[in-house]
Amino acid sequence: MTFDPETTTFLIAGPVRIHPRVLRAMSMSSLNHRGDYFHGIVAEIRELLPVLFGAKGHQAILSGSGTAGLEAVYSALVPKDRRTLVLSNGNFGERTNEIVRRYSPTVTTLTAPWGHPLPFEAAVAELEKGDIGAVCVVHNETSAGFANDLSRIAPAIRKSGALFLVDGISAVAGIPLPIDAWGIDAVVAGSQKGLAAPAGLALVHLSDRARAALHPGAYYLDLAAHLKSLEKNDTPWTPAVPLFLALREALVLLREEGLEGRLQRTHRLADAMRAAVDALGLSLFPDRRWASDTVTAVQNPDGMGDAELRKVLEREYNVLVQGGQGALTGKIFRVGHMGIADWPDLLVTTAALERVLTKAGRGKEPGAAVRAIVERMP
Ligand code: PLP
Repeated sequence: MTFDPETTTFLIAGPVRIHPRVLRAMSMSSLNHRGDYFHGIVAEIRELLPVLFGAKGHQAILSGSGTAGLEAVYSALVPKDRRTLVLSNGNFGERTNEIVRRYSPTVTTLTAPWGHPLPFEAAVAELEKGDIGAVCVVHNETSAGFANDLSRIAPAIRKSGALFLVDGISAVAGIPLPIDAWGIDAVVAGSQKGLAAPAGLALVHLSDRARAALHPGAYYLDLAAHLKSLEKNDTPWTPAVPLFLALREALVLLREEGLEGRLQRTHRLADAMRAAVDALGLSLFPDRRWASDTVTAVQNPDGMGDAELRKVLEREYNVLVQGGQGALTGKIFRVGHMGIADWPDLLVTTAALERVLTKAGRGKEPGAAVRAIVERMP
């Protein structure tokens, strides 16, 4: 079977499947982005954005993928006169480190092996030295299917007075992040993940403190300019108009389900997927205690590469999952289950996985993986 985007069971770690309502919302003739109609759409989006973040604050919409949001935040908020602390345990932690080093003259990077918890004790020790101006960390390390427990570092960051800057790209609307309770100053979300909108927009939440601390950074991604324009329901440059239309509908869908509803559903799906992995006789890549609810990373079956596994899944069963990235290329495969992914997606994917493994002589108990899903359905 050749790839058919309209019928594929599509479970990569983002972009994710898009609801037909969101697709239809995007199909409109060109709009005057300086006209009242579009300003009305921006006004609605502004009202809806707190639903996505579960918090009110200063929220910006940037035309560009998640990385644009990261660059906007780091370029305008990492200090020039104090140290920046980067915590990293995966491919996106490494990306954070690369971006931050373009803008902060003094960076300390603390790392942990991919799939293992961040070195929180060492981070607290750095914060106690008193010269850290910002801490940059990835909430959900998509590359390793690992959710960093930011509650372990939040109090120390708050106590130190440093800005707390979070890459929430594969976490927002998928994994709980109590922004206000943990004193987080900036969160970046990507449109193509938990929100289930098309790729190409970055959503940024800032605290009062972060807004007051913005200094000139990147030009196109200038958060101060974006926030100022948004006060008039406008954008500083020509926005990605069709994506704004899609964003509005994706936010309406999220409001209908409720953020809490989406978080809980995502958690139940993840729990079921992990049970299915066990039943298939496979192993999770990360330590199970911190396995992500938005993406399950699975070690390759013994003697079978993920490239071959994924090829058969796609060719025979029209199921798309993702391989590893960076250092994990060729070692794991990843199943995304965020956004509007739902039980039928998991049932098809699990059944197909079981069939591929059985036919390759690596099957375990027939039907057990599908049963693991069924038993966890509402
Ligand atoms: N950070 C995390 C945690 C991600 O998962 C991703 C993309 O998967 C990115 C950053 C990069 O986002 P984008 O590819 O939308 O620029």
